[in-house]
Amino acid sequence: MIEGTIVKGIGGFYYVETAEGLYQCRARGIFRKEGMTPYVGDRVEIEPQDDKEAVITRIFPRRNQFIRPPVANVDCLIITAALRKPEINLYIIDKFLVMAEYQHTDIGICLNKIDLAEPDEINAFRKIYEDIYPVICVSGKTGEGLDELQKFLNGRKCAFAGPSGVGKSTLLNHLQATVMVETGEISEKSQRGKHTTRHVELFQLADGSMIFDTPGFTSFEVLEAEEQELAFLYPEMAPFIGQCKYHNCRHISEPDCEVRSAVTRGTIHMSRYDSYCKQIKEIQEMRKY
Ligand code: GDP
Ligand code: ZN
Repeated sequence: MIEGTIVKGIGGFYYVETAEGLYQCRARGIFRKEGMTPYVGDRVEIEPQDDKEAVITRIFPRRNQFIRPPVANVDCLIITAALRKPEINLYIIDKFLVMAEYQHTDIGICLNKIDLAEPDEINAFRKIYEDIYPVICVSGKTGEGLDELQKFLNGRKCAFAGPSGVGKSTLLNHLQATVMVETGEISEKSQRGKHTTRHVELFQLADGSMIFDTPGFTSFEVLEAEEQELAFLYPEMAPFIGQCKYHNCRHISEPDCEVRSAVTRGTIHMSRYDSYCKQIKEIQEMRKY
């Protein structure tokens, strides 16, 4: 028995990276009976049949799992944004951040395309987020900030998430090109130059970090959170929860609300609070049906 990580799944085969190399695996029939599907990112135990093929005999408990894209054990979601091309929409960024909080991943914000923005705009963006999350400013065009981004991965299994067009595949290509472990299949991919994604794949970089290469993470799964949970998914609100006059305060229009006082004082940023209010409304609308 050896342990490894599923790095790819195609046509009923799972590719498992282990200390002894890459194995092409089938999953034991029992998983299907139990309604358990192995996901890319899963830590598994395999029983080798020879030096290339094996059977997955065990799936270790997951830190988290996503349905679309179907991946497991994302350590860190890098929420990617750009100030223009496409024009920034802070509400969408905040929804990605909430999704990441809900899935209990580590979180970083990557502001890409800084070559297209003025320093003032970049600072204004930083001000909103830098006390809550690490903010890494980069340009996939000029290469600025890419070292910092690479350091941020720090041995974790990371995925880029964010609206389409902000530069996620461009950044992924850069990271792959600079520090990719040269295994047969992967170098073939780098030669192709252009990054094309047809299925989810998990790539190992030379420093041990891994990156989920997926066209997904551009939209949201339905947030299952209840109204009263939402404030906990905005970490800067958490210290004020339970301090309001009403124990079931939703921090919208109730009197003596400590969250709203913090917004007035500027402790909680207005744009984040706006996103919170919009998202509460969305949850309420959803509950009506
Ligand atoms: P994705 O949809 O998030 O994967 O975005 P892509 O990586 O496909 O990038 C969308 C477009 O933005 C492409 O035309 C890229 O060449 C361009 N792009 C990516 N990063 C930058 C950047 O830092 N600056 C500029 N000016 N363009 C960029
Ligand atoms: Zn309140």
